[in-house]
Amino acid sequence: MLSLMFPLVGCFLCSSPGNSTDPMIANLIHDTEIKQIRYKNWMWNCFVNSDVLVEVGDTLFVDQKLWEATIREKREVWLAGLIAHESTHAARQINMGLVGWIILYGTNTKFRLDEEKIASIEGWRVYIKREEAIFDYDMRGWAREMSSSTYGNIITYEEALLFVRETIVKLLKNHDATILTNN
Ligand SMILES: [Zn+2]
Repeated sequence: MLSLMFPLVGCFLCSSPGNSTDPMIANLIHDTEIKQIRYKNWMWNCFVNSDVLVEVGDTLFVDQKLWEATIREKREVWLAGLIAHESTHAARQINMGLVGWIILYGTNTKFRLDEEKIASIEGWRVYIKREEAIFDYDMRGWAREMSSSTYGNIITYEEALLFVRETIVKLLKNHDATILTNN
């Protein structure tokens, strides 16, 4: 447990405060478990690709250039989905205890896959709520991401695509049902 504290403290030491006060960002993280954004420094590149976001506790560690471009381009729907995904991880870390969650996430591929599935569903739910068109292209992209080496190849591309498609169909059905009961 003590040895795990070093990388955890390292996350903070190897980062600097990021823009979380931009009105769009502040609005999106308001009422979520994400409380601050920090920019990763070059040290992170030894462990993860520069474009990879890492969520630990209430903090989202991001690439400064990508984050600032996202704000500039006002990619609000994309960010809303991302925040929903990361905030789900944060909430589950709080429930389970941060250290226990990180150990399981790092060592147990089944746990990591389940956590990514649960968080992904919440992200996709936001896209559908905002009535963003779900193109096949995105589904393939999400399946590619889920089955990538970023997560340690926890699922094959074909299995991931099947999961994405089945989940989107279910979410769309529930969304339609909500619309029907609202009218
Ligand atoms: Zn995730």
